Amino acid sequence: MIFIGNHVSVSKGYAAMGRHALSLGGDTFAFFPRNPRGGRSKAAAPEDMAALRQLLAKNGFGKLVVHGAYTMNVCAAKEEVRANSLEMLRDDLIRLQALPGNYYNFHPGCHTGQGAQTATAQIAAALAAAVHDAEEISGLPLQNTILLETMAGKGSEVGGTFEELQAVLTQAAQLGGDALSARLGVCLDTCHVWDGGYDIQNDLDGVLRAFDRVIGLKKLRAVHLNDSKNPCGSHKDRHEKLGQGSIGAEALRAVVRHPLLQDRPFILETPNDDAGYRTEIQTVREWMA
Ligand code: FE
Ligand code: FE
Ligand code: ZN
Repeated sequence: MIFIGNHVSVSKGYAAMGRHALSLGGDTFAFFPRNPRGGRSKAAAPEDMAALRQLLAKNGFGKLVVHGAYTMNVCAAKEEVRANSLEMLRDDLIRLQALPGNYYNFHPGCHTGQGAQTATAQIAAALAAAVHDAEEISGLPLQNTILLETMAGKGSEVGGTFEELQAVLTQAAQLGGDALSARLGVCLDTCHVWDGGYDIQNDLDGVLRAFDRVIGLKKLRAVHLNDSKNPCGSHKDRHEKLGQGSIGAEALRAVVRHPLLQDRPFILETPNDDAGYRTEIQTVREWMA
């Protein structure tokens, strides 16, 4: 079995967010700790965080997959953007120390003309720095695992290939050793890998073999379950509702049921309202059975 849920809003608080996810039928969820387009992260009362932790434990939730802001770009050519992004990353990690045992997923970034090699080194350095600072400021070892998201390779996006993600992980290990390495993983987005040219419709086993060869499947910790509006290799990144896009229901069902992907949180990032998410969560549960 897998855990299934969708993106919910933290605007009414942390415990309220958990109740919302539960009401949609989820047993995991994703949220942006700050406005996805940037801005300050939502301050949390310790009691509110504690109430959410209790709700998650009581209802048998899987790990949450928190999402870093889209505006974060730790490998931008502009030094100011890099510095602001590092600060966002560090602050998110500190905030999430109160929600231990979950995942924090973020987009590796866009190299904005610097080239992927420079970018992967900057991302690795940012991870090492952010984790170091978060641990020092909070006085605790990092309580969550950071995931790099597989990207569609749109524009100058880094992470459109498994090799680029592995370059980040390798360089991070050089900087922070096993301690940092153990805190890092990958979130596979079905729309993104498809748009990036990995044919999960006709050769899911082959794509997972490639992931295993380059990164290692033990690093694959979460899935973003989305259909795509565009053909394989289009490098577009436009999500579609499950079964209404170019990947299709049959292939997405095979992802949900794949023996190598069990026990992980799957997050829907499809264009839906609450009613739509409730239906899709139900559909995924039928696929699991
Ligand atoms: Fe994402
Ligand atoms: Fe995603
Ligand atoms: Zn996307």
